[in-house]
Amino acid sequence: MQFTVAIDGPAAAGKGTISRALAAEFGFAHLDTGLLYRAVGAKGGDPETAAQTLTPEDLARPDLRSLEAGQAASRVAVLPAVRAALTEFQRSFARRTGGAVLDGRDIGTVICPEAEVKLYVTASAEVRAHRRWLEVGGDAEQVLAEVRERDARDMNRAEAPLKPAADALCLDTSTMTIEQAVAEAISAVKAGLAARKSHAD
Ligand code: C5P
Repeated sequence: MQFTVAIDGPAAAGKGTISRALAAEFGFAHLDTGLLYRAVGAKGGDPETAAQTLTPEDLARPDLRSLEAGQAASRVAVLPAVRAALTEFQRSFARRTGGAVLDGRDIGTVICPEAEVKLYVTASAEVRAHRRWLEVGGDAEQVLAEVRERDARDMNRAEAPLKPAADALCLDTSTMTIEQAVAEAISAVKAGLAARKSHAD
């Protein structure tokens, strides 16, 4: 069975938590596509070459979760050649047998516009910065400034800007618990699976 769940949204909105929970609930494979851009940014050198030659070791670097790696990722992510080099891998992951959840910025809009379920997970910049600060510590004002800077770059770039797909279900997690957000996402996937089944019958 091929079944794709596309999850997009800004940094620290809860995409990763929701994606992992859905993958566990439904037995789907999960791809955190942000990790691809983080690995390209961290590899250094020419970004297009880095994207074309990514290895599993590049994706396993321990420093990819830092704020700096996030900023470097969003700088290389504006480059069309970098995005193009990563497209086919993401598309074939999405169509693998057994179902897949992909989270990122352009999954429902560019990578998998035909995904069976599309979610746009967001939260206020303040709430997202606070969550990030709980993880990484440091100066809270600076974490908020970095979240805003990355939002602006991701939403205003010419190529595959961050925005909800027209048919995405929007989940604002600002005032939700993790359990509530995951429960809503699970309901959406159950509805998508049921719709597919009745379509096939
Ligand atoms: O999701 P994460 O914070 O790890 O993503 C890091 C950066 O990679 C984002 O800020 C964005 O610029 C870029 N990205 C992207 N498209 C994706 C996933 C991530 O442009 N599908």
